[in-house]
Amino acid sequence: MGILLPDGGFSSVYGEKDNLAFSKKLISGTGATFKMRKLSVKDLDLKGKKVLVRVDFNVSLDEEGRVRDDTRIRAALPTINYILERGASLILLSHLGRPGGKVVERLRLDPVARRLKEVIERPVLKTDECIGEKIEQTCRSMKPGDIVLLENVRFHKEECQNDPGFARKLASLADLFVNDAFGTAHRAHASTVGVTRFLPAAAGLLMQTELEMLGELLERPQRPFVAILGGAKISDKIGILHNFLKRCQDILVGGGMAYTFLKAQGAKVGRSLVEEEKIEEARRILKEASREGCRIRLPLDHLVAREARDGIGVRVVDRGEISPDYISLDIGPRTIELFSGIIRKAKTVFWNGPLGVFELASFSKGTRAIAKILAESEATVVVGGGETVSALREFGVEDKMTHVSTGGGASLAFLEGLELPAVASLTDKK
Ligand code: AMP
Repeated sequence: MGILLPDGGFSSVYGEKDNLAFSKKLISGTGATFKMRKLSVKDLDLKGKKVLVRVDFNVSLDEEGRVRDDTRIRAALPTINYILERGASLILLSHLGRPGGKVVERLRLDPVARRLKEVIERPVLKTDECIGEKIEQTCRSMKPGDIVLLENVRFHKEECQNDPGFARKLASLADLFVNDAFGTAHRAHASTVGVTRFLPAAAGLLMQTELEMLGELLERPQRPFVAILGGAKISDKIGILHNFLKRCQDILVGGGMAYTFLKAQGAKVGRSLVEEEKIEEARRILKEASREGCRIRLPLDHLVAREARDGIGVRVVDRGEISPDYISLDIGPRTIELFSGIIRKAKTVFWNGPLGVFELASFSKGTRAIAKILAESEATVVVGGGETVSALREFGVEDKMTHVSTGGGASLAFLEGLELPAVASLTDKK
């Protein structure tokens, strides 16, 4: 089975500007097809090989340093098991948090190793470094079925600098490289891009699923295709808005970002969240949408309060009627009805960003109602973004979605139409 990957050139990912952030090359603007084939882990001859697997074990830890949420560890299991079952040994590599290029004790991967051992029910050898002579020796003596988890790769500043010497040392530990860390695919780091210079580099199964599911949204979504965009800020979603208004029949806008649009239309928004410097951009987006035949649906009514806290008095007001000392913190009932009706007719839905301050019970109704409609929907429903996924989990409907993306920033960058350097640098299929 081929995987759907963006048409990325090798040269751009090694460009000097590319080492700190994702490449700004527009994949959709080039007419690139997402069907271009990159090596998948399924194409590799794994027997007897040592495989360096970049995973995203950037999990949240509790106050005692235990893994609070092991979703990301579990998400890597299909690739881990696939490789082990084919007689290879596994060298796992990940980052955790932002140690800033130095050792930070509370960001060691020991708690991750403990949880991995529990879920995989096999021994895992956790090392205290990720490069160096001792690590080379350990890896040299590995046998098929062995698992080593290397220390947090971001303890070395060379990781985020995509330093070739550091990448070479990582690559020297293994025969093959598999990247399953979709969450960091928008970053050109030594462990995501640099190593691909030195080893055959394939996509892992999680990476493959993410690219296929998100790629389908851009390439051939079943219509009507509806996007639901919310969350705090419009500035994070401008790229996706531009790319989606060419593809979606309706874009439902809620959350804090709706108020920059409403202000752009001259509505009274009180003290609701507005990004003043984005008002012009919001106007442009509204114009572009009407040219493209995409309906941007803004809230018809709002749940407002004098401040964002539970227990405070709330009121429902119509669009344009938020008085100066009130903040809108959720969509109102007429908006829920409007959005629900559109979602019920959709064949494909993408959702990123809660529709209100869902963390507070008083303002969670809109997000909860939309999550419920999506859970009941027959449509292909793809959800991305950390906060939206937390909301789904809180409402107990996460498993009712077709696909929940593990990569917030990476999924947004991909859907904006940007090239993901860690994907572009994987080895092309012959
Ligand atoms: P994002 O990370 O951009 O998806 O933003 C998520 C955050 O947006 C959540 O923590 C929500 O509390 C917040 N949010 C949603 N609606 C509003 C609103 N109307 N005003 C302010 N913040 C909001």
